[in-house]
Amino acid sequence: MTRDQYTFHDPRTLYPNISPEVQQQPEPGLQSRMTPVPDLGEDTYRGTGRLTGRRALITGADSGIGAAVAIAYAREGADIALSYLPEEQEDADHVVAQIEAAGRRAVTIPGDITSASFCRELVATAAEELGGLDTVVNVAGKQVWHEKIEDIDDEDFAATFATNIFAPFWIVKAALPHLAPGSTIINTASLEAYKPAPDRLDYATTKGAINNFSKGLAQQLITRGIRVNVVAPGPTWSVLQVTGGVDPESLPEFGSSETPLGRAGQPAELAPAYVFLASAESSFVAGETLNVNGGMVTP
Ligand code: NAD
Ligand code: MG
Repeated sequence: MTRDQYTFHDPRTLYPNISPEVQQQPEPGLQSRMTPVPDLGEDTYRGTGRLTGRRALITGADSGIGAAVAIAYAREGADIALSYLPEEQEDADHVVAQIEAAGRRAVTIPGDITSASFCRELVATAAEELGGLDTVVNVAGKQVWHEKIEDIDDEDFAATFATNIFAPFWIVKAALPHLAPGSTIINTASLEAYKPAPDRLDYATTKGAINNFSKGLAQQLITRGIRVNVVAPGPTWSVLQVTGGVDPESLPEFGSSETPLGRAGQPAELAPAYVFLASAESSFVAGETLNVNGGMVTP
C-alpha cells in the first residue's frame, strides 16, 4: 500500500477531476461497467481494529458508498451482512472477495427493500447468520432525474419513497429487538436534503425526510443506549449517476462545477465518516449529520 487514508495530501488533487464521458445503464446498474470504475478504497483503506467483533448490516453494499463502507468495516474487524438487488450480484461478488480477504465473514442477502416483509426477513437473516447485530447502516437509495414534476409518475414517486425512507423505517424497527446498548444506526442523507435540485424533487424530499427522521429517532433511542447518526454525501462518483440519477448530458461536469474542491468525491472518501459514527470513538455523538461533500456549506 503506497498511500492509505492516513496519508496527508492536497485534497484537490488526491483524485483527478474525472470529467466522465456520457454513459447510461438501466437501474440499478453495475459499477464494474462504468468508466472510470469508482474507487472503493480497495488499494488504500487500512484498518486499525476500530470495529473489532462488530456485526453490521449494510444496505446498498454491492457498489458505491455502501460497498466502500463494507470494505472499510471488514478491514476494521467487523463481519458484514450485505443487502442489494439480485441483478447486482456481480458487483456484490467483488465486495465479498474484499471482505473475505480481510479475514471477515460476508453474508449476502439479495432482495428488494421496497417490500416491508423482505426488510423484516433481511434483518432476521442478518442477525441469525452473524450471530447478532449491533450496527445498522442504511445506504441503499433510488435517484432518478426528471426535468418536470409532470414527468414523475405516481409509481416512481412512491418507489423513491419506499426505497429511501420507508425501507430504513422498516429495517430499523425490525432491528431494534437485536440492538443492545452500544449499538449504532447510520442513515444516508444527501446535500439534496438542504439544497434540493429542481430536477430531483422526489429524491431530495426523501433525503430531507431521512435527516429529520434520524434526528428525532436519535433522541428516542439514545435513552436506550443506541446512537443514531447520518452521513450526508455530496456529489460522489457512483453507478447511481449513470442509471438516470442525473441528466446524462451533465456527466462531464459531474462534481467539478458544484464543489468548492473542484471535483467529485469517490466512495472511498465517504467510508471513514461511516467508520467514525459506528465506532466507539463517537460515543458522545448522536443525532448528528456528518456532511462529506467537498466543501459545500450546509445549514
Ligand atoms: P449506488 O447505486 O452504488 O448504491 C445504491 C444502492 O442502492 C444500489 O447498489 C442498490 O443495491 C441499492 N438499492 C436501490 N434500490 C434498491 C431496492 N429496491 N432494494 C434493495 N437495494 C436497493 O450509488 P451510491 O451513490 O453509492 O448511493 C448510496 C447512497 O448515497 C444513496 O442513498 C444515495 O442517495 C446517497 N448519496 C449519493 C450521492 C452521490 O453523489 N453518489 C450523493 C448524496 C447521497
Ligand atoms: Mg449497486
